[in-house]
Amino acid sequence: MTNTLKVYNPGTGDFIDDVETDSLSAIEEKIIASHTAFLQWSKTSAAERSSLLRKWYDLILANKSELAALMTAENGKPLKEAEGEVVYAAGYIEWFAEEAKRVYGRTIPASTTDKRMLVTREAVGPVAAITPWNFPAAMITRKAAPALAAGCTFLIKPAPDTPLTAIRLVELAYEAGIPKDVMQYVNGNGEEIGKLFTKHPLIRKISFTGSTPVGKQLMKQSANSIKHVSMELGGHAPLIVDEYADIEHAVKQSVASKFRNAGQTCVCANRLLVHTSVKEEFVRQFTNAVSELRVGVGTEEVDIGPIINKKGFDKIVSQVEDAQKKGAVVCTGGTYLSDEKKGFYFVNPTVLDQVTDDMTIMHEETFGPVAPITTYSDIDEAIRLANDTPFGLAAYFFTENYRRGLYIAENLKYGIIGWNDGGPSAVQAPFGGMKESGVGREGGIEGIEPYLETKYISIGI
Ligand code: NAP
Repeated sequence: MTNTLKVYNPGTGDFIDDVETDSLSAIEEKIIASHTAFLQWSKTSAAERSSLLRKWYDLILANKSELAALMTAENGKPLKEAEGEVVYAAGYIEWFAEEAKRVYGRTIPASTTDKRMLVTREAVGPVAAITPWNFPAAMITRKAAPALAAGCTFLIKPAPDTPLTAIRLVELAYEAGIPKDVMQYVNGNGEEIGKLFTKHPLIRKISFTGSTPVGKQLMKQSANSIKHVSMELGGHAPLIVDEYADIEHAVKQSVASKFRNAGQTCVCANRLLVHTSVKEEFVRQFTNAVSELRVGVGTEEVDIGPIINKKGFDKIVSQVEDAQKKGAVVCTGGTYLSDEKKGFYFVNPTVLDQVTDDMTIMHEETFGPVAPITTYSDIDEAIRLANDTPFGLAAYFFTENYRRGLYIAENLKYGIIGWNDGGPSAVQAPFGGMKESGVGREGGIEGIEPYLETKYISIGI
């Protein structure tokens, strides 16, 4: 009897589909097939790989509505956000289809005339990737596209909440002409699959997006066979509203940064630090804007969809309760709509004022539509608070003063900085974190590097 994974709609609790899971021996066979395919794929021309990636990109865009509907069903995000994600996810494929053609080596002047020194780049080998549910398409394409562009083969284990988008993406890759064993998916228990991927000698690279504890575990497991690792892990983004900020602009961008995907993004602003001189005005405008956000199932005209599952919902509720107990004031929200029996969980967009540093929400990733606001009076104090976390993924600040802006940007210990910008992520820019937020970058010219090895060839003549 085959085992299956049940996929449910987090907005309604309705059952969507059964997905067949792979036994560990079936996954082992896929790893071997991935290695066999690598021997050929890595020898194809960059132009050929580029052309196949470009076809995949075209097919994804041609199927945008179908993919978006699938994503809204299994992830819950509003349809317009799902469509945006399809375009964003496809953008990585287009970008790396071009980057495939720009993997350059170099020559080095030798110290003697009887030698020539070359540096070449080659594909790392078969790659195994594990991804989360919050961006069911983009988290896959920004790994798969550079891997395939570099000449690696690719095996993906998607999150159990959102395997359907992953499966459809792989089907479209086959339709585009990408050979079957070059890109494969597996489904099943994450921990067991993670162990198999990390211990298997034929897998040469692990690429993971997800929580920091799981990332640490995979890094430890990968150490035994010295695998390459890329880790896109958790965040705890600060958002600073400086005394020189354009408040109207800061409000608009802060709402976008905080509430996209119902606050379930790794780069979401997680704590708002507002200068005392502008706090009252900022809180007034921000609360008004947040209270206008519409909540509901993603297929309707809404801004905020459901929370992915009970575990995520319980974490949000406990952070809000802890903050309220310690004196935070609810400006809007603080209410919920959930039905444990049916299996759906909604959090009304919440603004918490008078938040203090002893509250859990100031130290843990929330992954929900809750914006805690605290104040500061000196910019160095704001920078200290912003950096006072093991995480270093994204940080935001708003100021119209360029000296102040450069000072903040240069002193924030984060991999991604949004200066007057609540949405800095772009396919042509490097995405990734410092400290416990990860290792390596995805996107940009940096994004193909983790899939390449450097080889030095010294030629005696
Ligand atoms: P998660 O619990 O770490 O799960 C992510 C993936 O890892 C899932 O496919 C999961 O599958 C698998 N997994 C869980 N335990 C595992 C183990 N021991 N070994 C191998 N695989 C394992 O993360 P999540 O809660 O789904 O996702 C949210 C987190 O991802 C947040 O912390 C967020 O900040 C982070 N994130 C980071 C980025 C970034 O680019 N930096 C982007 C998006 C999200 P199973 O459930 O089947 O085990």
